[in-house]
Amino acid sequence: MPDTLRQDQDPRVTLITPSAPISTPSHGGRAKCLQRLVRLDLPVPRTVALSFDTVHRIAAGEMPDVVAILGEFAPGALLCVRPSSEDPDWGGPGSVLNIGMNDAAFVEYSERMGPELASDLYKRFVTAYAIHVARLDPDVFEEIDSPGEEGLSDVLRCYEDEAEEPFPQDPAVQLAEVLRSMARAWEGTTARLLRQAKGAPVDAGLGLIVQEMALGLGMGECGSGVLQLVNSETGQPQITGRYMSQSQGREALQCEQSSLYLERDPRGPSLEELAPGAFETLKDYAALVRCKLRVEMQIEFTLENGAVHILDAIRVKRSSRAALQIAVRLANDGIISQQEALMRVEPRGLSELLHRQIDPEAERDAIGRGVAASPGAATGKIVFSSSEAQASAARGEPCILVRRETSPEDVRGMHAAVAVLTERGGMTSHAAVIGRGLGLPCVVGAARMGFRLNDKTLLAEDGRRFREGDTLTVDGSSGQVLAGAPKMIEAALDETFHVFMSWADAERDIGIRANADTPADATTARNFAAQGIGLCRTEHMFFEAERITPMREMIFADSPDDRKTALARLLPMQRADFIELFRIMEGMPVCIRLFDPPLHEFLPSDRAGLRDLAEALDLPVSDVTRRVESMGEYNPMLGMRGVRLGIAVPEIYDMQARAIFEATLEASKEGAPVVPEIMLPLVSACREVELVRNRIDAVAAAVRNERGRDFDYSLGVMVETPRACLRADEIAQHAHFLSFGTNDLTQMTYGLSRDDAGRFMSHYVQQGVFPEDPFHRLDAEGVGELIRVGVERGRKGNGGVMLSVCGEHGGNPESIAFCRNAGIDYVSCSPFRVPVARLAAAQLAI
Ligand code: PEP
Ligand code: MG
Repeated sequence: MPDTLRQDQDPRVTLITPSAPISTPSHGGRAKCLQRLVRLDLPVPRTVALSFDTVHRIAAGEMPDVVAILGEFAPGALLCVRPSSEDPDWGGPGSVLNIGMNDAAFVEYSERMGPELASDLYKRFVTAYAIHVARLDPDVFEEIDSPGEEGLSDVLRCYEDEAEEPFPQDPAVQLAEVLRSMARAWEGTTARLLRQAKGAPVDAGLGLIVQEMALGLGMGECGSGVLQLVNSETGQPQITGRYMSQSQGREALQCEQSSLYLERDPRGPSLEELAPGAFETLKDYAALVRCKLRVEMQIEFTLENGAVHILDAIRVKRSSRAALQIAVRLANDGIISQQEALMRVEPRGLSELLHRQIDPEAERDAIGRGVAASPGAATGKIVFSSSEAQASAARGEPCILVRRETSPEDVRGMHAAVAVLTERGGMTSHAAVIGRGLGLPCVVGAARMGFRLNDKTLLAEDGRRFREGDTLTVDGSSGQVLAGAPKMIEAALDETFHVFMSWADAERDIGIRANADTPADATTARNFAAQGIGLCRTEHMFFEAERITPMREMIFADSPDDRKTALARLLPMQRADFIELFRIMEGMPVCIRLFDPPLHEFLPSDRAGLRDLAEALDLPVSDVTRRVESMGEYNPMLGMRGVRLGIAVPEIYDMQARAIFEATLEASKEGAPVVPEIMLPLVSACREVELVRNRIDAVAAAVRNERGRDFDYSLGVMVETPRACLRADEIAQHAHFLSFGTNDLTQMTYGLSRDDAGRFMSHYVQQGVFPEDPFHRLDAEGVGELIRVGVERGRKGNGGVMLSVCGEHGGNPESIAFCRNAGIDYVSCSPFRVPVARLAAAQLAI
């Protein structure tokens, strides 16, 4: 027998030795990992690797020299074959164990370990072969439950009946058939589609590993199990795994009730008590693997008469929380660098750590319960379709997506929602998996509630009726659905999180601010170490009950004087808003955008609302209705909004500017002087900026005079029309900063309504018209081109101008990469995305 299969003998088959030419792109991750374990001198059974190319040819009917492969192993050894794809997440056919078992081997093993265990071995192999290789009906084999030799003859007879031929006895035939069936399974359409859904390329390859069996059955302490040194959920050091005597493969995990803990445990017997020596050895091996492979691995092992064999090691599965803990501990132990730790955590996964929870002290008005599928709690208005969710998000209204169950069609709606509630499903249903991926609170399987999707109604378990637009809270940590908006507490972020994020901050070279309109948002922004507020949308401050009436009075005012009277009632409320924001942000920059939306958004549209308004204004309903109708616009998003209002109805901006300046003086009394940033929305012409700037300067002068105190402020422009990008040089001459509002800029560049695009976006993405929803990931080619032009011309017009992006794209890692390349100084995103943005930005700089 040759000592090794040399390349000149059969270049398609390689014995894994420390120096064999094995790489992940040619043989797969498992083969590469096994080679690393071999290099560490761990007791890995003899292993042969078949390359992607070899396996591809096997699928096409070209078998390598199977006898030569068998010749690599001890005569009569039993073998197993395992898949080895480039990325373990892409899956692969199941492993087949005990190849080589036949009538002759049965006699031999009966002598060695007794007929009982030998029958068990043979039976296992025939069953696996029947199901996975000969593709016979699994039910027929799984029904056979007679033990020992009788069971074995039943299985062999059953095979012969079903396959219409005797069970193959020749190990070479067995091995060839196993290899062929695994190679073909990989090339099948279903398997290909499944792995492509996980990100595998169309031509992803499969390697195969042929390994000598360490049996796990036999005399003395025999068995198999898995061990890892950390808890997969928390990432904390903890020996976890299971062991089962007289078992093979991953059986210990499949039959938890008959398997053992590894470490001494009050809940039951452990491997530590059963075989302390083997347990210590395993721990040492696992620690060595962690240190040398620089990854937390789960080790698959077998004991044969007490001796440890390491069959395989796979990266420990981990929650996002665990991923961060593991990365930080590896760096703190000096095993990896801080930079590497940063690169090992997926930025989007951070959002799982960051969610608010319902205050334990808060009253809970529970209306239903389901499976707690994704942690965190969120409050929003219920919507019953993904397009409604997107429309709601575009209006800036948090919403809860209520569906019978979700499908890939709903992913965009889930992106837009703050939480998801479904009637069907469990922990691994689509909604649950995607919800966890997005860090979106999610309750699934709330089957006792009534989901009347057609008439957009949700019935509580006690019969209460909730309609579209009603406010509910989903608690993805407890599985409860609650009426209304209970008090929340911010996510508990531990020391490790802050240490990790401080490493990220040390690396990144682009600023990160938050879009925050309320004190709660600003507090979250501070907790997540945003470097200020990049966008405070002031209109959101006027929707509260006590403000909407003066707001409507202001809108209905006939003369500038009447308008001023109504605005005078709003002024102290605005001033108080800004004082609070300045206080929370403690001297960090706060960029306040003046009023943006069309005024009629504040007016009622239904009869009841019109009647209430008529009552409040002491006018006949018909008058109010006529006035509301007359304010309607054909294209409100392109109509009287943004700076156009500031020019046509200047009293609103005057009031806001005064509120900002008075708040500035008030907040500056307490600490460092506040320097507010005031931003004008929807600018398209330089003259708009000049006109508004003159008025704001006049208000500033008046406030300085009245108070006898000085203050500074800076004025900037939102660049969110294509024309503003093109004319950025002259606009920048009148502005301290330019902030690209990529939501409107995307809308206007494509001529694509933010509020309606949801209806057809999935068709567009599915058919490849857009690679991705451009409201989600910045369109680098089109919108991006305008931004590049705006950056270049803006800097040309004003060398010192500060540039930022404050559309939703500011929290999207790919879009941040674009912004950084384009020379943007900072991005601003919703508070919960700030840590995601900080990490994504750090990874770009590493
Ligand atoms: C934008 O248009 O990108 C923006 C930030 O403003 P809003 O979303 O409020 O229109
Ligand atoms: Mg905008």
